[in-house]
Amino acid sequence: MTGTATAFALLDLLAIALFITGLHFLNAPPTARFGNRLAMVGMLIALVVVLVGTLNAGWWTIAIGIVAGGLIGIVAAALVKMTAMPQMVALYNGAGGGAAALVSTVELAVVHQKAAALDPVVAVSLVLSAMIGAISFAGSLVAFAKLQELMTGRPVTYPGQQGVNAIVALAIALLLAFFIARLGAVPTWEYPGLVLASLIFGVLFVLPIGGADMPVVISLLNSATGVAVAITGIELSSTLLITGGALVGASGTILTVAMSKAMNRSLTNVLFGAFGSAGGAEPAAASGAQQNVRSVSVDDVAAMLAYASKVMVVPGYGMAVAQAQHSVKALADQLEKRGVTVLYAIHPVAGRMPGHMNVLLAEANVPYEALLDLDDANAQFPTTDVSLVIGANDVTNPAARNVKSSPIYGMPILDVDKAANVVVLKRSMRSGFAGIENPLYELPNCSMLFGDAKASVDALTAAVKEL
Ligand code: NDP
Repeated sequence: MTGTATAFALLDLLAIALFITGLHFLNAPPTARFGNRLAMVGMLIALVVVLVGTLNAGWWTIAIGIVAGGLIGIVAAALVKMTAMPQMVALYNGAGGGAAALVSTVELAVVHQKAAALDPVVAVSLVLSAMIGAISFAGSLVAFAKLQELMTGRPVTYPGQQGVNAIVALAIALLLAFFIARLGAVPTWEYPGLVLASLIFGVLFVLPIGGADMPVVISLLNSATGVAVAITGIELSSTLLITGGALVGASGTILTVAMSKAMNRSLTNVLFGAFGSAGGAEPAAASGAQQNVRSVSVDDVAAMLAYASKVMVVPGYGMAVAQAQHSVKALADQLEKRGVTVLYAIHPVAGRMPGHMNVLLAEANVPYEALLDLDDANAQFPTTDVSLVIGANDVTNPAARNVKSSPIYGMPILDVDKAANVVVLKRSMRSGFAGIENPLYELPNCSMLFGDAKASVDALTAAVKEL
């Protein structure tokens, strides 16, 4: 190995070490920012190594790519709303998968241009990364369209769907086999056929997934992109790509399993169960059919909170939309001054991305010790005076516990109704992400405070101060 090659290899190693250490620091909220910064430095080192390493091979093309990609990344990250994060993740993820497929295509073209023989290991990694990358690219675009509401967010199902998916999967397997069997020949039809079939499969496999299962499929696609990138690393003999891809693949898989567990569903069920479709029928949206709901005034709720001994805040997507986290902290401060214990119940899929509520509440300086996970929070509800539900809906829906026909039956929920009183802050009787009614709102211990979450919480803080 030359001196330069050794220096590059050592820098690669440093970047990999920074990725791994960064991931380790992401384990706990207080160190997560630091972890992210370490990984960013790792990525910067990796980019510089690639740039310098390609000085003689059209480096300016790569430089243009880095500048253009960097600019798009910076502008997108600055503009994106926190609530639109899952779409952005889906889009970036699709770009990663697409890039892996494109690199494989270019590699194949180069080998054939040189009329060189294709090494069997390279050949297998090439087709695998093209296949997985194309599936991840197309699947991520469909996930993006669903979350951005460019198409229905519900499962799209039709008779014989699983049969059609199986036929496309079989076609992919056959094309793979043909490609490997005819290694010496120019793969004029099997390679484009494989990429096309993979793109179609990506679309078909995400179509029947919808509703509350979207977080699981996004994290699954994320891990698929990681795998595609790692395989591309084998093709290019790049340790950096192999390790980076493997880290994404492994963490994506762990997250997928954790999310499935949080939803109390097996992965097979997520992928083939068309969750949220209520057996193919459009579930009844909460459109005002729920008549027995009790609306309360700000003053009533303020008194209930001020004279409580324990209040459990249950944040959800609506708190994120209203950007009410700072107001929630101000209300909690006011209540704590009066001797009320304020805790926060965090459902693993509340909001629109894993950890969404934790990030928002951390931004508002809510102490980590006050955040309870699902099991700990559920143990506390029976001794809670008021469950203050702020823009959460699906994660509090008791139908998941006892209505077998409900599309969310079996999903673990926060048992807010076990508290003495429940107050729900939302703007209307509209449904949440899963598009279904919430029987919680008709329970005798539940009352509704209608309005934008931030406006309502600010009004509550002012009213508590007056008491
Ligand atoms: P939901 O989507 O079930 O409900 C949010 C509620 O917030 C709505 O009913 C809405 O009612 C209310 N709301 C919206 N804007 C405001 C506002 N400005 N002020 C007050 N209320 C508002 O959210 P949950 O957090 O309970 O559940 C998350 C759902 O999202 C689950 O189904 C989950 O599976 C899914 N999901 C989760 C992801 C994740 O990774 N966490 C990713 C993708 C999906 P109204 O319009 O009447 O105000």
